[in-house]
Amino acid sequence: LALPGLHPAAPVRRPSRQIHVGDVPVGGGAPVSVQTMTTTPTTDVDATLRQIAAITAAGCDIIRVAVPSADDADALPRIVAKSPIPVIADIHFQPRYVFAAIDAGCAAVRVNPGNIKKFDDRIADIAQAATTARVPIRIGVNAGSLDPRLLAEHGSATPQALVASALREASLFEEHSFRDIKIAVKHHDPMTVVAANRLLARACDYPLHLGVTEAGPAFQGAIKSAVAFGILLAEGIGDTIRVSLSTDPVEQVKAGVHILQSLGLRPRRLEIVSCPGCGRLQVDIHRLAARVEAAFDGFPHPLRIAVMGCVVNGPGEAREADIGVSSGNGKGQIFVRGEVVRTVPESKIVDALLEEALQLAPSDDAA
Ligand code: SF4
Repeated sequence: LALPGLHPAAPVRRPSRQIHVGDVPVGGGAPVSVQTMTTTPTTDVDATLRQIAAITAAGCDIIRVAVPSADDADALPRIVAKSPIPVIADIHFQPRYVFAAIDAGCAAVRVNPGNIKKFDDRIADIAQAATTARVPIRIGVNAGSLDPRLLAEHGSATPQALVASALREASLFEEHSFRDIKIAVKHHDPMTVVAANRLLARACDYPLHLGVTEAGPAFQGAIKSAVAFGILLAEGIGDTIRVSLSTDPVEQVKAGVHILQSLGLRPRRLEIVSCPGCGRLQVDIHRLAARVEAAFDGFPHPLRIAVMGCVVNGPGEAREADIGVSSGNGKGQIFVRGEVVRTVPESKIVDALLEEALQLAPSDDAA
């Protein structure tokens, strides 16, 4: 199940059943997709669509919107009609919104069995509606809202309890011959997420949605997610990911994309290789790297740009990259594909890199 065009050392994926979230295949060897949730009120259709556009530009494949009220459910058809990526409705507490989401044309519905009272009584109807509309269901189990019966049985939200909850709900759908399912078992602790997904991967062939829930502020949360997803994806486990950070969803998507690119599971767009700096520094490397990152934000061509702080490793790394700068003595030596093309004052380094990148880009397109 290795995909063509990816890093030669990219992990081999666990075989799994494939579902389709709109036009995005999930599982069955499909590329690992990135998803997140909007943070705008779902009833504010224009704001939600603007956020979906920004999220899509950052590399998101699938978007999920919360449906906490009837007004939110009413907004779904207008969001679905204009969203450039498939929309999943996220439903807690009210099973009737599941039917509204399916009627609205949502590409999938996420249900949290622990938060829907008498959910089991509604499964036959949900399975019937989802089958008719060919809409997959995500069973999303969260440690914070685990079925009280399982919490009592296991004492806490252990990996076994999370998996038992998910498989129990899946089996209820299976009783109605419904298998268009993906599963998520989420916890705030990365190693619990790893243990739970390993168990789940052995116990079923459903595609798995990975998430460290409530992972925290951006820096901590991105690291927790990268650790858990890195371990699991390196073992071939995981078909779609969501990085949950207390920050703009665009940043969540960028983190998810970087995780997949680091694992060789998604082709790189743009990579900045920059040195951390040390006592040999001859330029403010942190500021320079941040300026280069900002200048190249959204740059559509897959270039590697080296930003180096002195002549020790600078020329070597700069030569390995598509474009690079080796800084020193108030100047920057600009490299393009291994050759020094010019030397510019420090204040002109970012402009020079951008100019060279733009010159390089059309020839890449033509290749
Ligand atoms: Fe230090 Fe130079 Fe290496 Fe940067 S490139 S970490 S400044 S030795």
